[in-house]
Amino acid sequence: MTVWVIGDQLTREVGPLARADADERVLIIEAREFARKLPYHPHKLVCVFSAMRHFRDDLRESGYEVDYHQVETFGDGLDAHFETHPDDSLVTMEPAGHGAADRLESLVTERGGEIEFARDERFLCSADRFEEWAGDDDQFEHEGFYRMLRRETGYLMDDGEPVGGEWNYDESNRKFPGEEYDPPDPPRFEPDDLTEEVIEWVGEEFAGGYDEPPYGGSWADPGAFVWPVTREEALDALADFVEHRLPEFGPYQDAMLDEEWTLNHALLSVPLNLGLLHPREVVERTLDAHRERDLPLSSVEGFVRQVIGWREFMRHTYRRAMPDLATANGLDADHDLPDFYWTGDTEMACLADVVGSVRERGYSHHIERLMVLSNFALLYGVRPAAINRWFHAAYVDAYHWVTTPNVIGMGVFGSDRLSTKPYAASANYLDDMSDYCGDCAYDPDETTGENACPFNALYWDFLGRNEDRLRKNHRMGLVYSHWDDKDDDERAAIRDRVGEIRDLARTGDL
Ligand SMILES: Cc1cc2nc3c(=O)[nH]c(=O)nc-3n(C[C@H](O)[C@H](O)[C@H](O)COP(=O)(O)OP(=O)(O)OC[C@H]3O[C@@H](n4cnc5c(N)ncnc54)[C@H](O)[C@@H]3O)c2cc1C
Ligand code: SF4
Repeated sequence: MTVWVIGDQLTREVGPLARADADERVLIIEAREFARKLPYHPHKLVCVFSAMRHFRDDLRESGYEVDYHQVETFGDGLDAHFETHPDDSLVTMEPAGHGAADRLESLVTERGGEIEFARDERFLCSADRFEEWAGDDDQFEHEGFYRMLRRETGYLMDDGEPVGGEWNYDESNRKFPGEEYDPPDPPRFEPDDLTEEVIEWVGEEFAGGYDEPPYGGSWADPGAFVWPVTREEALDALADFVEHRLPEFGPYQDAMLDEEWTLNHALLSVPLNLGLLHPREVVERTLDAHRERDLPLSSVEGFVRQVIGWREFMRHTYRRAMPDLATANGLDADHDLPDFYWTGDTEMACLADVVGSVRERGYSHHIERLMVLSNFALLYGVRPAAINRWFHAAYVDAYHWVTTPNVIGMGVFGSDRLSTKPYAASANYLDDMSDYCGDCAYDPDETTGENACPFNALYWDFLGRNEDRLRKNHRMGLVYSHWDDKDDDERAAIRDRVGEIRDLARTGDL
């Protein structure tokens, strides 16, 4: 029997490896083929390949026999494995990507081997528990799931009731920091020799290798590599967040500042999604700090909600909604993705800044992803699969199971499985929650005219275009009452402005 460790299951804390003897054989296949499928940000590839190689070395130091194959495809790696160990049985955790287990099983059985898929223990909620909770009905919602998990884990619970008396402190969050606010510096994990080697190799092996227009492998503009790639670094990243940024995570989690790429966000999605951290330890460390240092409940609850609520909910909604979710296009959006998502070359200050951060480090925080990048794509009418592909290529923490529900469900409302109404907003919201508009070439208070912020005309046009689908949604009643106030001339001027915006986007002049 051999434990097969897949590249995003780098954990000895749970799963088959946690139960294996120290002299057990371990198989790791570093297949490059996946890295050529999209024009990935180089830092994403460095995260995965460096973390895998460090994990290999750690296991070897602990006495495991690790067969590490650096090959083009999983098939090549399995050929090499079964040549040395004919008829071997493999065990691995069930992969999170849709259809991946079936593909791996075929590859193994075609080579005369066997494979057993153990339960995916990288999440708090098992697939069975989710099925039991959700039943056959697809109307399940995040809030109910989150409360169920709070009750079951006992996290932030007191005698069956939520600590503090409320389930949610969003109202005391959503603040905008004053000008004097100086957030803690985010940590940077200096690349060691092994990571430096991977950075160089990724640059040679994958840069420019993807020549699909408009921008191939060279679209990114990588700055210093900052991400944790070992278990030790991941624990340091967690400790750093809990010590410095957790206390003010809540109030400023929706704010966007030109000069700050992370504010108080945790920067933990990379190690969580690689398996280097488990959500249980992330939450328990947070709760320990809450007890020991009397941290604000609004910050602690706000963070716990992200990790045990949204992350787990996305994982299981994806599992249930695939394969349809990946191609869902409930609003029939049919526009191409504007080139500035790759180049950052736009006069729109918000988009230029957020895309710049993504080009530099493969990251932007949640509200920038939702209310700038996907909000624009939603209003503009970009095909959901096109914007999903962009997110998948561009982010260091992107994996199909987590990117797809966030983008297609939450971001552009291709499916209504993740939210009951689209996250659509005009410049009003962005001006309130960011400092971008002050320095922008466009005016956030104007809807029509050449200096008017493109978000405004696109917003109204979006409501008009999708009236048949969205007006009946009772949560859209208020916004449609404002649309009803617009007369024919105003609506015609909005349509004209949208025509100009689309022309400018096509010529790269927006
Ligand atoms: C359009 C869009 C695309 C996204 N794509 C990804 C993606 O490819 N990979 C990814 O991990 N997350 C994705 N997210 C979710 C979220 O934005 C990131 O998890 C978060 O920004 C990561 O940064 P952080 O660790 O600083 O998170 P924080 O804001 O500090 O949150 C803490 C943790 O909560 C978890 N979390 C919070 N919200 C979500 C969510 N909606 N889905 C899953 N986990 C969540 C993450 O593990 C995160 O590390 C996306 C969100 C949107 C709106
Ligand atoms: S004015 Fe519009 S385009 Fe410019 S930063 Fe504000 S929201 Fe973005």
